[in-house]
Amino acid sequence: MVAVDGARLWRDLMDIAKIGATSRGGSHRLALTDTDKRARDRFAFWCEEAGLTITRDEMGSMFARREGRNPELPPIIVGSHLDTQPLGGRFDGVYGVLAALEAIRSLDREGIATDHPIEVVNWTNEEGSRFSPATMASGVAAGAWGLEETLARTDKDGVSVGDALQSIGEAGTRPARLSPPHAYLEIHIEQGPVLEAEGLPLGVVEGARGQVWYNLSITGTEAHAGAAAMNLRRDALAAAAEIISMVEKFALIEHPDAVGTVGSIKASPNSPNVVPGKVDLTVEFRAFDHDALRRLDGHFRAGLEDVARRRSVAIEHEVSMRTDPVSFDPSLVDALADAAESAHIPYRRMASGAGHDACRIAAIAPAAMLFIPCVGGLSHNEAEEITPAWAEAGARALTLGILAADRLDFIAFAD
Ligand SMILES: [Zn+2]
Repeated sequence: MVAVDGARLWRDLMDIAKIGATSRGGSHRLALTDTDKRARDRFAFWCEEAGLTITRDEMGSMFARREGRNPELPPIIVGSHLDTQPLGGRFDGVYGVLAALEAIRSLDREGIATDHPIEVVNWTNEEGSRFSPATMASGVAAGAWGLEETLARTDKDGVSVGDALQSIGEAGTRPARLSPPHAYLEIHIEQGPVLEAEGLPLGVVEGARGQVWYNLSITGTEAHAGAAAMNLRRDALAAAAEIISMVEKFALIEHPDAVGTVGSIKASPNSPNVVPGKVDLTVEFRAFDHDALRRLDGHFRAGLEDVARRRSVAIEHEVSMRTDPVSFDPSLVDALADAAESAHIPYRRMASGAGHDACRIAAIAPAAMLFIPCVGGLSHNEAEEITPAWAEAGARALTLGILAADRLDFIAFAD
């Protein structure tokens, strides 16, 4: 049985959390900023200390390689991301990268060689907060979008991904389009409340919800709040209110498979005595089932037309992101469950509500994920918290998962 050094892993987590530490105990490390660079340097230092060889791809994603008995075999890639949300937590992403590194150190300590090389990955810009979209580099790696268009994307100050990569010196030469690895594994905090509520230290993730995101722009007529008669108004915010209720209603019809959210809204002129003439808002639906997502999309679009007609407002909508539901590789999922069982780590099988780099790589290689609990289900939040015991159990399961993946012969991968 392989032992991992939980104390070392925890020290590393706390150490890297100091880079971009926020006043309320979180981390603020937006992709390709100087703080991200410092975290990358720290990670690279630890990897080199562990004897790993680092390469960077054209998107700046870092791959730290431990050679296998057969260097010709495609690697097992394990990792996550070091970037955070603005005012994010200390564990989202970071835990997955450092747990993977600790897994390698554990194999070294125990003198265990694998047939396949192992590469610990730090994906560039998973969060998508500075540059859209999220899972940016793993998306390029899996061919979901192209390299050139991605490098040209800009942040709110007009700085492109390509320029940001150059300015921190993280652009590499390894092709950003990944040649399919033997397997891809990622461990992450759950970002939901299920594991903690059930007192389980581990989740074996079978798949992830598909998502469809919209940007809506509603145009009515600005008018005097005292003088404009109710029956003659074209109130953009009242129309938005109907749309918000509609999103909630449609998502509840598909409960518990689906969720629907309006997370951002901007009314203008946003003045107490003016009937709002324009509202911009975002809407998103997520569901595990393809058909449920299709139904939500269809009902929502029909609903928009109905609101626009009845209220005489113009509603423009664009889909800003769409991803299909993901099913992880069943044999890899089973192998992770077996690994947890053999290590006597209580677990449950579950699905992910959030998108992850693993969901991208699942398009080109056998992929699967593990979750550890997070306190109160909180993430994307400075108060994000885990326990050292959860961190250690997860890293142990991941290490065994890597060994199991090494032994697996996947039936030719077909997407
Ligand atoms: Zn994450």
